[in-house]
Amino acid sequence: MPELPDIELYVTRIAERVVSQPLEKLRFYSPFVLRSVGVPASELEGKMVTSVSRLGKRIVIELEGDRFVVIHLMIAGRFQWITPAPPLKKSFGKVLIASLRFGNGQLDLTEMSTRKRASIHLVNSKDGLKEHQRDGLNVFSATPDEFQQRLQSENRTLKRMLTNPNAFDGIGNAYSDEILFAARLSPVRLTQALKPEEVVRLHEAAKTTFDHWRKKLLETYVGFPKPSDITAFRKDFATHGKFKQPCPVCGSPIQHIVYAENETNYCAKCQNEGRLLADRSLSRLLKGDWPKTLEEMEEN
Ligand SMILES: [Zn+2]
Repeated sequence: MPELPDIELYVTRIAERVVSQPLEKLRFYSPFVLRSVGVPASELEGKMVTSVSRLGKRIVIELEGDRFVVIHLMIAGRFQWITPAPPLKKSFGKVLIASLRFGNGQLDLTEMSTRKRASIHLVNSKDGLKEHQRDGLNVFSATPDEFQQRLQSENRTLKRMLTNPNAFDGIGNAYSDEILFAARLSPVRLTQALKPEEVVRLHEAAKTTFDHWRKKLLETYVGFPKPSDITAFRKDFATHGKFKQPCPVCGSPIQHIVYAENETNYCAKCQNEGRLLADRSLSRLLKGDWPKTLEEMEEN
């Protein structure tokens, strides 16, 4: 799922192209994509785009007269920019689910998945936009106190708390791994067990990690990003998606904990004093055979 740096890359690249352009035509090719219609699509057509912004993991295209197109990419949704706008098609592949046609080009929404989960909402007021807002704290605008209060408002694992969109804004599976690595904190530490200096370290790590990646993505993708450029697996990530690869700091193999559709990656040496974390279901399966330390694992 695209997280803060990827969404902000999209926001910047879309804004550069469509602000001050009229939205000429809005078309939906999948019956699932349009989730709510606070205003009919035909009423948005002809209106000028005034801004493009990020609302949590959503991208909001604002049109004159307080009209909004709210797009949530979910896991597999991606944009493509085609300029000049192609002729209007009659038949469509299964990947293209919606298109927004502007004077200078066309913004296509695609979804490379049989499960169509990306969504578009058409919203007719600033009030209506609130429905799409989550309570996630923005790590950049939060004071140290606000960050600490939010983090410790529930006693959860760091991994779970950081990736809760109602707790923190824009952090998903990939960047939570990268942030926890930068903070040298284990993903299964409990939030309320953190020392004050660890909370400060985590807050700083979140800001530094996001700052690094949003700058890096903007520098790397100077044109409109290709669908494959928006990914949870980046070559220069330290831990996320790097299972068994050497940690960039200490060289130990990166570990993982697999659960449901996700996995957490971490460096046992840098983040957990050399101890491997027990994956509960795995521990149950393996009984006493689950290695507890890196050394034990390497011996097996
Ligand atoms: Zn390490």
